[in-house]
Amino acid sequence: MDAQDDTLDIIEDETPVAGQETGRQEAWKILVVDDDPEVHHATLFALEDTQLLGRPLAFRHAYSAEETEALLRTEPDVAVILLDVVMENEQAGLNLVRLIRQDLGLHDVRIVLRTGQPGYAPELSVIRDYDINDYKTKSELTRTRLVTTLTTALRSYEQIRTISASRRGLDLIVRSAADLFARRVLKGFAEGVLTQIAALLGLRPEGLLCAQHEPCASNAAPAVPDDELIIVAAAGRYAPCIDAPLDSLHDGHIVALIRRALNERCHQFGEDYTALFFPCPHGRDAAVFLETGVALSETDRTLLEVFCVNIAVGLENVGLFNDLNFYAYADPLTRLPNRVAFVQAIDDALREQHDDRQSRSVVLLDIDGFSEINDALGHQQGDQLLLAVAQRLASLPEQVTVARVSGDVFALLGPSALLEPGRTLELFAQPFQLGETPFLVSCTLGVADLAEAGGSGLEAIKNTNIALNRAKVERRGGYHLYCSDMSNAARERLLLHSDLRAALDQQGLGLSLHFQPQLSMVDSHLTGAEALIRWQRTDGSRIPPDRFISLAERSGLIIPLGNWVVDQALAQLRRWEEQGILLPRMAINISLPQLRHPDFLPFLRDCLDHYRIDPQRIELEITESVAMQEVDLAREALARCKNRGLCIALDDFGTGFSSLAHLHRLPLDRLKIDRSFVGDLAAPQQQESAGSSIAEMIVRLGHTLSLAVIAEGVETPEQQTCLQNLGCDEAQGYLYGRPMPENEFVAWVAARR
Ligand code: C2E
Ligand code: CA
Ligand code: CA
Repeated sequence: MDAQDDTLDIIEDETPVAGQETGRQEAWKILVVDDDPEVHHATLFALEDTQLLGRPLAFRHAYSAEETEALLRTEPDVAVILLDVVMENEQAGLNLVRLIRQDLGLHDVRIVLRTGQPGYAPELSVIRDYDINDYKTKSELTRTRLVTTLTTALRSYEQIRTISASRRGLDLIVRSAADLFARRVLKGFAEGVLTQIAALLGLRPEGLLCAQHEPCASNAAPAVPDDELIIVAAAGRYAPCIDAPLDSLHDGHIVALIRRALNERCHQFGEDYTALFFPCPHGRDAAVFLETGVALSETDRTLLEVFCVNIAVGLENVGLFNDLNFYAYADPLTRLPNRVAFVQAIDDALREQHDDRQSRSVVLLDIDGFSEINDALGHQQGDQLLLAVAQRLASLPEQVTVARVSGDVFALLGPSALLEPGRTLELFAQPFQLGETPFLVSCTLGVADLAEAGGSGLEAIKNTNIALNRAKVERRGGYHLYCSDMSNAARERLLLHSDLRAALDQQGLGLSLHFQPQLSMVDSHLTGAEALIRWQRTDGSRIPPDRFISLAERSGLIIPLGNWVVDQALAQLRRWEEQGILLPRMAINISLPQLRHPDFLPFLRDCLDHYRIDPQRIELEITESVAMQEVDLAREALARCKNRGLCIALDDFGTGFSSLAHLHRLPLDRLKIDRSFVGDLAAPQQQESAGSSIAEMIVRLGHTLSLAVIAEGVETPEQQTCLQNLGCDEAQGYLYGRPMPENEFVAWVAARR
């Protein structure tokens, strides 16, 4: 007899288990074990067509211990066993109980012992140890008795099942949570959720899918409209839908169920479908659709809810991780790849280059004067400009990777043919719209061929940056191409820089001052000396100041270096004075960063006090080009120096294109004719050349402005005569004396006497 098809009169059932689903229900499996066929018949007859706890009964029959064992091995889901205690022998029944509980490990099944002899009862310890449900004599085979006994046993079975299912489920949840939390990528996580749910419910991972709003950074506009849901994971026949929009599923029922779960923010349980809701911050709520085939039992529902709560935490972690991942590789302002991502992109391109001979370029694009724009218009407008630049760069062909690698530096990577510098610069020909105002912005490029720029992304960026720096110095608004010589030079400069720093850290080890005499052109008397720095590295090499001064100026090292020079020059004056040598004037070269530095003048004053030197005897030489770069700053700084009594000379005069107006406003004492114009005076046939007229012009200009004029680089008597004829006041050059170390200079002075 099989009552499994009998589903209609379930509704009539009077005692459903609390919370039991009404729906298609499986029959309770009842196993009758007895060697007496009459008992089997009697049991069947008594219980025919009976429903217990809302479910029909399905009988299984065994006539021996072996048959029982074989049957339970294939059908372990028997709910109740009606077991004859005394079958083949006295112990057979109890041995069978031991086998069921211990060997087969069936702990849920309820066992009702039956015996033919009313006097026989198993020991209490057996009942307890083997979890025997009930004990009845066969005379109690009446329908009522059987129904009562079985109902109790089945209720107990159901409760035990629920508890152990929960325990198994909870076990699974705990284990799966650990597994899921280790997954950092949404896709992997979602797949894990599907697998775990399937395992939890004993479903095959078929007909499952997980939909979620496209994850996006919380502070930026979502990449996908809000109602667009993406299938992030799917199993079984939905597997091909991964990554597709939910709406592309041709099953309106599923789409609706998932949307309802997300909109109402709660699980949706249906006849044979379930949609689970996973709440998560940042609009990342997810829903999982399950094709369960049957309605879920209360136990399963409870388990799922526990699971979902657990999983939501994991989902949040994944979201957090995605956020971190986003910020690790993207610039939050422009949403472009950042430096890290760009380095990776180059590395990838380098790897690809093996099979792809197409030449590629790396470009670094620096917005000219961005910090001034930022200061003038405010950071908000600055950000707007960066966004506008990013947008304009986005118009480059798709093959070009655009990144923002630092504040105002963008980076491009792509086929060289698409990154021709002229074309890139042309992107900036049209003004940018900042609010109401059109705003013209220029940029400077460093460009490198990827094949030449280095073996790694980091190296390529570094080398392209060398080209960019060169371009910034030499041609703002233009570009410079990287060549490998440059990085050698850059490496050399770096080495030089660290050596110079080391020298300064060791009280100027290897640094010294040379002194070059300056004389009157009227009577040849010594009017002063220029202090010129010399550097001999620990390896013995001598580095000309032209090489390391500009380096020090760019790195800021010029401040300690300049201070060292000032201190040494003044100390020298003091020492000479104590030796009875009175040098009327000491000229010291000063760089713009020194002049600009707020501590410069106080330091100078301290030195003057310390060595007890009259400021009148110190002349600061500042090159014309530098003074003209920042006229206002130079004027103010020089005026402060002048107020302190110091003298000021404009060095390399004639090369810096001073406008007369500016020259007029600088508080000067002396113009120093650049040695290139003096060199032009060399040959007699060039007497009427432009060189002579420039020197002549400078002398006249100086005198008109009531400034003294000194000529540097005087090497020949002809040059001297020429300058004398022009009325030049003083001269300095190899003709009189080379820059000399302290003792030689003293000897030179002594020899002239
Ligand atoms: P400068 O200030 O124009 O210095 C004059 C340069 O001309 C010196 O080169 C000097 O050795 C050289 N010179 C002198 N007489 C003659 C001559 O008759 N013919 C030729 N051909 N050259 C002559 P030096 O010493 O190599 O210095 C180069 C530059 O380095 C200096 O140019 C100056 O700008 C800078 N410098 C040197 N010492 C210092 C310093 O202590 N501080 C700063 N800031 N710059 C310095
Ligand atoms: Ca000088
Ligand atoms: Ca000079």
